[in-house]
Amino acid sequence: QIPKEPPKIHRLDESVVNRIAAGEVIQRPVSAIKELVENSLDAHSTSINVVIKDGGLKLIQVSDDGHGIRYEDLPILCERHTTSKLSAFEDLQCIKTMGFRGEALASMTYVGHVTVTTITKGQLHGYRVSYRDGVMEHEPKACAAVKGTQIMVENLFYNMAARRKTLQNSSDDYSKIVDVLSRFAIHHMNVGFSCRKHGATRADVHTVSTSSRLDAIRSVYGVSVARNLIKIEVSDSDPSSIFEMNGFISNASYAAKKITLVLFINDRLVEWPGLKRAIEIVYAATLPKASKPFIYMSIVLPHENVDVNMHPTKREVSVLNQEVIVEKIQSVIESRLRSSNEARTFHEQT
Ligand code: ADP
Ligand code: MG
Repeated sequence: QIPKEPPKIHRLDESVVNRIAAGEVIQRPVSAIKELVENSLDAHSTSINVVIKDGGLKLIQVSDDGHGIRYEDLPILCERHTTSKLSAFEDLQCIKTMGFRGEALASMTYVGHVTVTTITKGQLHGYRVSYRDGVMEHEPKACAAVKGTQIMVENLFYNMAARRKTLQNSSDDYSKIVDVLSRFAIHHMNVGFSCRKHGATRADVHTVSTSSRLDAIRSVYGVSVARNLIKIEVSDSDPSSIFEMNGFISNASYAAKKITLVLFINDRLVEWPGLKRAIEIVYAATLPKASKPFIYMSIVLPHENVDVNMHPTKREVSVLNQEVIVEKIQSVIESRLRSSNEARTFHEQT
């Protein structure tokens, strides 16, 4: 039965709007981890420790030794669109921090219970305060604290029944969390990372600060990966497609069932499906046994050539002259692979 009149349009409650938006920023436990770790990195931490309970649904806890949060800022910390990182829209052009939307912590308070403990330099004690739906639940309480910030998210998606159900049935969220931390750990070599399940004595990711990328990769991904890597570097100084890339790619002896591409663009952990496909194609065409590669790549571009505001989760960025960059990278990988493969064939024959 079609009604005679059009349905009336009304304004949604702010709380409904916020919860809908929050579900988009925090899609799964691993999205919260990514945001929290990026906040810790933005706070210049040198040590970031993660504890997870029940795949992140019961508890996500991220502790850092960064600059902490001012007492005066605590009341608005978890409001939507509050940030210390961005002021004018134009600043997005040259923003160096991972965060800028001022949405992550707020989102977590709309889909979970957030408790923040923080201390700033020169203070005798820290403060602890909990948040719900963007607001502080009580005055901050003085508490003991050493350095930096600890953020605890409990009961994620307690108010989103469908999301919670689908996540409860999937056991792979912890492995997604370990995966993301592994990626951060090999890029940010000067930061020590750890990640473990609540109550476990052994950490599943554990790194200490190092100056060798290869050591970092070895300690996270193991010797079998590290000993099969080739260092690569590319730079293009053509003004229209200027970029620098350096990284490691697996050689002909490395065999895996699926590709691992750990990609940072201007120090942001991002995905670039086009580049991933292009690399897979080169490997399939160049190596005899079409093996799937392990790739770590850091691309640096002028900030004005990268649009970081493409996605609420900042999962992808948009890069100027993508095709040129992809082709350059492809051709360097191809030539490096060819020479490594010839060396190997020669080695096997003699
Ligand atoms: P954004 O990172 O986009 O600014 P967030 O909601 O992630 O937004 O964080 C809001 C603000 O809270 C940040 O701008 C920062 O000032 C502060 N903050 C969040 N996490 C930390 C942390 N671990 N250490 C210090 N400050 C933090
Ligand atoms: Mg942030």
